[in-house]
Amino acid sequence: MIAKKMVDALNAQINKELNSAYIYLGMVDYFVSENYDGMASWMKAQAHEELEHAEKLINFVQERSGKVDYPAIEKVTNKYKSPLAAFKAGLEHEKFISASIHELYELALAEKDYGTQEMLRWFISEQVEEESNFENVIGRLEMVADAPGGLMIMDGKLGYRKE
Ligand code: FE
Repeated sequence: MIAKKMVDALNAQINKELNSAYIYLGMVDYFVSENYDGMASWMKAQAHEELEHAEKLINFVQERSGKVDYPAIEKVTNKYKSPLAAFKAGLEHEKFISASIHELYELALAEKDYGTQEMLRWFISEQVEEESNFENVIGRLEMVADAPGGLMIMDGKLGYRKE
């Protein structure tokens, strides 16, 4: 049996992953409205990944015979100042998620919940990748600054992201 405390914390994380998907869907909307089709498809792939993260946690909670609850997902924005501003907001959000995963892991250690620790290790490495993906795009967007030609090239390249 999994501790109630642990289930509650995992449920909170499920909500955060679904909220992440929402945030990125808001960004997709922004990119589509600004005709950045490549960035829109990059961000759509990101939103799908977030749904998979939520699913992974949902399956785990169900496997450990905990109950999943689905609190309301916060409303998100679809307005950003620039593509760079959107990706920067994404990076900040991923840092927040990493901290949240680390807290979950601390709880699993304190609870001596080895199964949850093992499952969370996947998320710990995944977060390293997520932050690095956003940092990489931000670095390149900073290079092109506001040059329309550069932004168009970046948009084309980002459209190649595979799910
Ligand atoms: Fe995630």
